[in-house]
Amino acid sequence: MQLTAMKELFSTLREAPLNNHCPKCFSRDGLQVTFKQKHLKTMWYNKRTDEVTSTLFCNTCNQQIFPVDWDEDIERVYEYQRKASPPKPSYFKPSKNLYIAIGLSLVALGGIAAYAFIAMV
Ligand SMILES: [Zn+2]
Repeated sequence: MQLTAMKELFSTLREAPLNNHCPKCFSRDGLQVTFKQKHLKTMWYNKRTDEVTSTLFCNTCNQQIFPVDWDEDIERVYEYQRKASPPKPSYFKPSKNLYIAIGLSLVALGGIAAYAFIAMV
């Protein structure tokens, strides 16, 4: 197990179909916007960040639509959806491994202290 390995995970905050024309295929019923919140997971802790990523995907032409292709209507609806999906509060949660590591180092410190005490007497 790598001690410093960090995994990025994303939880879906909101998936909403848009009633807009796709800039690529002009279909009106394929666009879907997805907002995801980023989590970081390491051996030592879990962290929910306040970072939200979003993707606009067209299910009709099966491709991601990048902001450069958005028209004003899409931008407006996107903004609306974005405001309707605020990130959940971020948190920082130590994992069990961290407690074990702290516990072990306390035991080690206790051992050292006991040894020092015995050596002094
Ligand atoms: Zn399309």
